[in-house]
Amino acid sequence: MKKTFTLLLALVCCAAVSAQPRRAKYIFYFIGDGMGVNQVNGAETYLAAREGRIGTSPLLFSSFPYMGFVTTQSATDGVTDSAAAGTALASGVKTKNYAIGMLQDLETPVKTIAEVARDHGAAVGITTSVSVDHATPAVFYAHVPSRHMYYEIGKQLGPSGFDFFAGSDFLQPTSEKDSTTTLDLYQQAEAAGYRIVHGYDQFRSEYKKAKKMILFQSEARNREYNQTIPYVIDQRPGDLTLQQITQASIDFLMKQKKDGFFLMVEGGMIDKACHANDAAAYVHELIAMDSCVRIAYDFYQKHPDETLIVISADHETGGLSLGRGSYQLHLENLDAQKTSLLNYQRYLKRLIHERRDSLTWEFVKADVRHNFGIWDTLEPTERQAERIRCAYDRLAAALMAGEKSDFGSEVDELVYACARTVDEHTLIGWQSFGHSNGYVGVYAVGVGAEQFTGRMENTEIPLRMMRAAGWK
Ligand SMILES: [Zn+2]
Repeated sequence: MKKTFTLLLALVCCAAVSAQPRRAKYIFYFIGDGMGVNQVNGAETYLAAREGRIGTSPLLFSSFPYMGFVTTQSATDGVTDSAAAGTALASGVKTKNYAIGMLQDLETPVKTIAEVARDHGAAVGITTSVSVDHATPAVFYAHVPSRHMYYEIGKQLGPSGFDFFAGSDFLQPTSEKDSTTTLDLYQQAEAAGYRIVHGYDQFRSEYKKAKKMILFQSEARNREYNQTIPYVIDQRPGDLTLQQITQASIDFLMKQKKDGFFLMVEGGMIDKACHANDAAAYVHELIAMDSCVRIAYDFYQKHPDETLIVISADHETGGLSLGRGSYQLHLENLDAQKTSLLNYQRYLKRLIHERRDSLTWEFVKADVRHNFGIWDTLEPTERQAERIRCAYDRLAAALMAGEKSDFGSEVDELVYACARTVDEHTLIGWQSFGHSNGYVGVYAVGVGAEQFTGRMENTEIPLRMMRAAGWK
């Protein structure tokens, strides 16, 4: 007995002497834009409902061993925007709404965890499902007083020297006010050493020889709509996906052979869907982000002693509620909807432009049945049917009058009459088209993950990640 104990003690001491202090050499930072705790719970409840169960089917990230609650208000407002929340998540300081990487004086830049990673010799990737100059990616590399300064944000991408960027496109590639250069943002990025590729196939064929890279979606997709990559619910074969962006990031950053990497992946379309109160679109975005986390988790399993994965959100969007008072929830009814609301709006506008005569009530009713399952799996009440018919009548009257070039408000009314009907059948609700101050979660696994428990301010997250990485 004594002999066994001595042997055990020797083994323990030996392990203590030989163990290196573990540090997170590879850091994954997933930000679900607009992903409040109800968004996460709603996606898990939807997955169970699809299987005919009441309950949840846990996502990978929400099953991670460490989790906590995060408060999101900005320095100046009870409800934050993505720029102030992103600055907190990137730099550990609260600032004024709309500020990107600056203190609330809107003059003093603040250093971001991505810049710290770069300065410590790590490879850095900043990626998103929206444009690369949007607030959440911007807060990691740019310092400007307003998130709407898209050109100025894009101009700071090259000088960051980060290894890899991905997203849909630049929103504002040129500026007449910039007298310092005649180059547009694409040319400026190329002059700074970035190879710009479009789509995953071009990435795969070129990434090995590129020193630094920007991955955008295909030029054809960007000509249609360049603000984001398509919603998951609208994806067509060949579209760039967030999963491909995640895999591309890992492959590119590992190829750089630097001292580990820092990778930020934003699920930017969760926020877009929730701003539109589009529940069917948001659940698919959130589930897609979880599958991106799975790609990171596979990496973690190969490098368990050197990897940290953290998932959080900048704020909640829409004031999503899971219940409308009747003590029931039928999220399986979200499957009746086959398109995002945005896609359906754009489709109706195209029809108005190209085949206005086709927009009879019979045509629109059949189309609504096909795209929203209304009059099919979802039998509308009299009031719901009347709401859709009234919205159609107003659109038809406006088309008949023919005075407008854009029938945006009439199209919106029709689309929202359909969306509200789906909401009423799923029994979810929305408080607004904006953000709320609801808690968001933080979820972590890997080296240093134990720091991400309990309740914390959003400013704590990058500081705790830096501690795990051993960065000052
Ligand atoms: Zn938002």
